[in-house]
Amino acid sequence: MELAINGGSPASARYLGYGHQDVSDEDIQAVVDCLKSDYLTCGPATAAFEEALRDVTGARFVTAVANGTAALHVACLAAGIGPGDEVIVSPITFAASANCVRYCGGTPVFADIDPLTWNVSPSSIREKVTPRTRAVVAVDFGGVHVDSEAIRAICDEHGLVFIEDAAHSLGTSRGGVPVGSIADITTFSFHPVKTVTTGEGGAVTTNDPELARLIELYAKHGITRRPDLLRNADEGGWYYEQLVLGYNYRISDIEAALGVSQVKRLPEFSARRRELVAFYNEQFADVPEVSFQMDDTPEETTRHLYCLKFDTEALGVSRRFIFDALKAENLGVNVHYLPVYLLPYYQDLGHGRGECPHAEDYYDHAVTLPLHCGLSDEDAQHVVDAVMKVIEWCRENDAIGSEEGGR
Ligand SMILES: *Cc1c(COP(=O)(O)O)cnc(C)c1O
Repeated sequence: MELAINGGSPASARYLGYGHQDVSDEDIQAVVDCLKSDYLTCGPATAAFEEALRDVTGARFVTAVANGTAALHVACLAAGIGPGDEVIVSPITFAASANCVRYCGGTPVFADIDPLTWNVSPSSIREKVTPRTRAVVAVDFGGVHVDSEAIRAICDEHGLVFIEDAAHSLGTSRGGVPVGSIADITTFSFHPVKTVTTGEGGAVTTNDPELARLIELYAKHGITRRPDLLRNADEGGWYYEQLVLGYNYRISDIEAALGVSQVKRLPEFSARRRELVAFYNEQFADVPEVSFQMDDTPEETTRHLYCLKFDTEALGVSRRFIFDALKAENLGVNVHYLPVYLLPYYQDLGHGRGECPHAEDYYDHAVTLPLHCGLSDEDAQHVVDAVMKVIEWCRENDAIGSEEGGR
């Protein structure tokens, strides 16, 4: 079959994005109802969204915030990160997981990933601990839970704050314990490609009352009216105090109203994503040129991303060729992620190739395939068809030793 990149017809007639929001009529109605209500911010929808997140995560304290990046910033502030402090971070993640450390003047230190789970490896974290280390930011890559038992042990041993960047993993649990009540602080994002969306939005969860107090404070200008926190006597009904330099990281009620409605649908989203991942895994299990993310408890995982690692050496083509060929087949492929420390900003700080060999090897071979609830069974079959079409083309081309096709 002729590849679309060489003029053939694409495996999918319609464009299949790698991620897409699923917004129902009920979700829309929830937003409309909010717009007609008395509160567009700081109202009952925000409180209801926090309550809904408490139910899903099992966390004692939830603060909804403006986005996942704000959630990470507030988490680092609450953890007390400042200049001179080191924070160990996963390299295969969105830049925000490390930027939050920089916002506080701290130094991100990148630990390598496990070559099979693609999550940050506890043994690499252990190697990177120094007397200056204060915290770990571990990302549940693609929604697959990090090895939290091992990370917890390292954090306890060295007195580190365990921050879990759960932007990918709302709905995932480990040993029956939901993400959001496992680490000391957990952060979420509700960007439209994530499993649950509010447009822009995020949340920070913790079970620790002292951390919760700081999270709340930093996310809301550092200002409080709580009588138990005021330094001076209450001067009247108008009185508040600013205790630290905080930020306006509030979510609006318009966004939170969408969030309340979306969280109700999380079980449906989780189930469909799990189904699609199981289908892909089954289809690719016997294809030697590709490998998928290892997850030893898939029944507990809500997946955000589906990435494949292509054995480009065996295929005899570049990753760029595979990416372009799949794009031509009408798949909205992507790459998650360039190791954060290879972004020019981090290279300017002295980072470079060679720092995390497994992360670089993963990055060099990875392509993200479409995974979202808008995919029908037929769409998912077309995704597999497109991948197999490209692989078979590579096999045949290799056999005849052809140099054509933009290798
Ligand atoms: C999306 C994402 C973020 C940032 O979330 P925003 O809501 O876009 O600010 C942080 N970390 C990871 C791993 C993400 O995927």
